[in-house]
Amino acid sequence: MYAPPGVKTSPDMPVPDTMKAWVLGDPGELKFTDKPVPVPKRAEVLVRIDAVAICATDLEIIWHGPPASIQGGMPFNKNWTPGHEYMGTVAALGPGVDEYRIGQRVTVEIHAGCGQCKRCREGMYTACHNYGLNYGDVDKGHRANGFTTDGGFCEYQVNNINTLVAIPDAMSDEEATLVVTAGTAMYGLTELGGLVAGESVVVTGPGPIGLLGVAVAKALGASPVILTGTRDNRLKIGLELGADHVVNARNENPVDAVRKLNGGKGVDYVVECSGAPNAVKDAIRMVNRGGKVCLAAFPHEETPVDVAHIVRNNIYLFGIRGEGKSATHRAEAFMSQKRFDATKVHTHTFPLEDLPTAIKYARERIDDAIKVVVKTRSSAAQRVAAE
Ligand SMILES: [Zn+2]
Ligand SMILES: [Zn+2]
Repeated sequence: MYAPPGVKTSPDMPVPDTMKAWVLGDPGELKFTDKPVPVPKRAEVLVRIDAVAICATDLEIIWHGPPASIQGGMPFNKNWTPGHEYMGTVAALGPGVDEYRIGQRVTVEIHAGCGQCKRCREGMYTACHNYGLNYGDVDKGHRANGFTTDGGFCEYQVNNINTLVAIPDAMSDEEATLVVTAGTAMYGLTELGGLVAGESVVVTGPGPIGLLGVAVAKALGASPVILTGTRDNRLKIGLELGADHVVNARNENPVDAVRKLNGGKGVDYVVECSGAPNAVKDAIRMVNRGGKVCLAAFPHEETPVDVAHIVRNNIYLFGIRGEGKSATHRAEAFMSQKRFDATKVHTHTFPLEDLPTAIKYARERIDDAIKVVVKTRSSAAQRVAAE
């Protein structure tokens, strides 16, 4: 039985020595295998993973590699486990950890920076200067599970206590996996935008971050909140999450529509979540003079932008990476107060062993899939539900 020296376990929650885990082989190739259960070090806990959401970035990593970086290189054929949007139950405590207790439900944010670089010291741990340096003689202690260290498509993972967010019993496993997505939107809006109530926001792109961006903007008091996109079914969910107006860019010019909806001047903030090639070009025309544009998605190619328009109009552009400055805690606060229903973006659940099917649903948007979740304990959960 699992009892590493210095690690606290509980007879109430026995931990096995080995676990099932998906590992990445060649690009696009996942294999279901057995791995030893990892061991938490100082300031870390072992999390029993209960549910993991699939993110577009997982698909990017599984097929192309970056932004994952394993031992300074591509993540392929390194016995490495992807997956980063997970939640679970604390199963063991590393040496000295008393901030969490065994049996406590938590969700996780991704990045545990090195804690010693300039950006980590500023709270910008998602922009850690020692990103991916966690191996050999360049080990700075950086962890970004599912990016630079083993992730969540398995049964157990170690997490730095700084990446844990406690969740209430009333929050379902599926909803808890969405905290980090809402946290990313929160990071963009509160840290980079500095939104105050009554200011106007456009969110471009109704993917999971965009849809929860609408919800967070609304919960922060933004008015009006306008969502642009090309799929009516997703725009409809945006309305349910608090958008005052939606614009289908297939039917009308989104820049003209936004300006018309907000008195001709444009809005105070644009949160760009589409990654479309024309997105930045459009965003700087949607925003008013002195307005701010947050870039939370990226196109694959370089795109031309009217820099003169940005300069002449004092427009601010911010790129954000992930969910820094504890934004997930603020997102979780909104969610546990039921200020919005994040589960509206959750569409499908599969057991962990069916990960390839779950990924197919997410990738091909089968059956209008948005957030697809895999659960490690689905059979146990079903048993409970049947009782
Ligand atoms: Zn993600
Ligand atoms: Zn750092």
